[in-house]
Amino acid sequence: MSRQVSILGAGLVGSLLSVILKKKGHEVTLYERRPDMRTASGYAGRSINLAMSARGWKGLELAGLREDLEAIAIPMYGRQLHMPDGSQAYQSYSKNNEAIYSVSRGELNKRLMTLAEQNGVSIKFEHKCSNVDVANNKLNFSLPDGSTQAVQADLLFGADGAFSALRQSYTHMDKVNCSQNYLEYGYKELNIPAGKDGEMMMEKNALHIWPRGNYMMIALPNTDNTFTCTMFMPFEGPNSFEKLKTEAEVKAFFDEKFGDAVPLMPTLIEDFFTNPTSSLITTHIMPWHYKDKSALIGDAAHAIVPFYGQGMNAGFEDCTILSGLMDVHGEDWTTILNEYERKRKPNGDAVAALALQNFVEMRDKVGDTAFLERKKIEKELGKRYPDQFVSVYEMVSFSHTPYNTAIQCIQAQDSLLHAIMKEGDFFKNVEDGRFTAKLDTYITEYHNAV
Ligand code: FAD
Repeated sequence: MSRQVSILGAGLVGSLLSVILKKKGHEVTLYERRPDMRTASGYAGRSINLAMSARGWKGLELAGLREDLEAIAIPMYGRQLHMPDGSQAYQSYSKNNEAIYSVSRGELNKRLMTLAEQNGVSIKFEHKCSNVDVANNKLNFSLPDGSTQAVQADLLFGADGAFSALRQSYTHMDKVNCSQNYLEYGYKELNIPAGKDGEMMMEKNALHIWPRGNYMMIALPNTDNTFTCTMFMPFEGPNSFEKLKTEAEVKAFFDEKFGDAVPLMPTLIEDFFTNPTSSLITTHIMPWHYKDKSALIGDAAHAIVPFYGQGMNAGFEDCTILSGLMDVHGEDWTTILNEYERKRKPNGDAVAALALQNFVEMRDKVGDTAFLERKKIEKELGKRYPDQFVSVYEMVSFSHTPYNTAIQCIQAQDSLLHAIMKEGDFFKNVEDGRFTAKLDTYITEYHNAV
């Protein structure tokens, strides 16, 4: 029996989920707080991009959107590091030349909404959910004219992002544990335009990083030959947003710290003072669902910091898993939602922890000689022992290995790499038969441990 499904939020995850549910024969209505970004002014012009990897592509495949989006996705095969002394270094992401992809968030969201409507999903814009009566599955909306509207839901999904109204309403129930933690860091988007002949001003197929210890800037390529830069730094303290209050302070700081980027950023000062400084949050909640009536998905279930480029990817994977459970359990929504929570909650927690850990790696470690060496060794191990060794980064970005499994490999990989690097020059050693025999033992021990 098909159900009448209401989804809060026509963002990336809500729109994708609506297509999946509709294709399975359910009636679906999306309720979105904002106006339609395809027609509303104010959304045009600003390009914000996201890194899409294997888990994201799989979700899009389910919706039949993969090919369409591949056409506008830019592969990034590695990190291009911009060091403080002006030198650059390149680290490829994978041993097999795999890439993560820069995709325009707005374009992706628009295409997902259009696909939803083409499949018969109804989208109600400018419907802001103020709260949900969870026990009775009743939604309360406020509308732009100041009026309110109550809607009785049959099956409800909260895909309404990090500050989800459904999540908030769950917290009023008995035995619900939840937390939200703001990072002491904020972020600001900046811009590198195309050159005077429309050309790209840096390497196109890389994610650019300026690692600077406790802060950093990154840049992802756009299809119009611009780059969107994101500056991450503490709100307060020595190198922080609070220290950058005047044009002179911003100019002096960027000239000193990002000397090679400044000539590429003619609108730096304007961008810096126009674009907001936004905060970053990690949320946890348990449970993720209520009986067979409602569930949280995407950022509403697990808002995470962006440093592994996995927030959207994890949300799309939620959709993939939910779709698989529907295939197995048919219309038994009590089992589907129980299983969804049982499978996804540990992975939501794991990806949140991975994202926080990767921040330290990106801003602080990527420039270290020892770290660069370790990455090279990891790739070599992956080539020599493809069935026994896959780096955690590759597991997260290029496989469908559960996040929870990937995070459990970190300690074992740290010990393995530490032991190997203690033996001296790895690449010289591997030419020696005695060392390769020892390496076989190390790897077998590692493989048995994970
Ligand atoms: P959202 O995209 O937040 O969508 C929620 C929707 O619900 C919105 O349309 C909103 O308007 C609507 N809504 C909210 N409240 C209500 C309400 N009360 N009533 C009705 N509608 C409502 N992820 C990656 O995978 N790769 C990346 O490279 C990456 N980079 C990032 C960089 C930054 C700086 C940030 C902040 C995040 C990044 N992410 C990345 C994370 C990614 O943006 C999110 O995980 C993703 O957008 C989550 O999708 P969602 O649909 O769950 O939530």
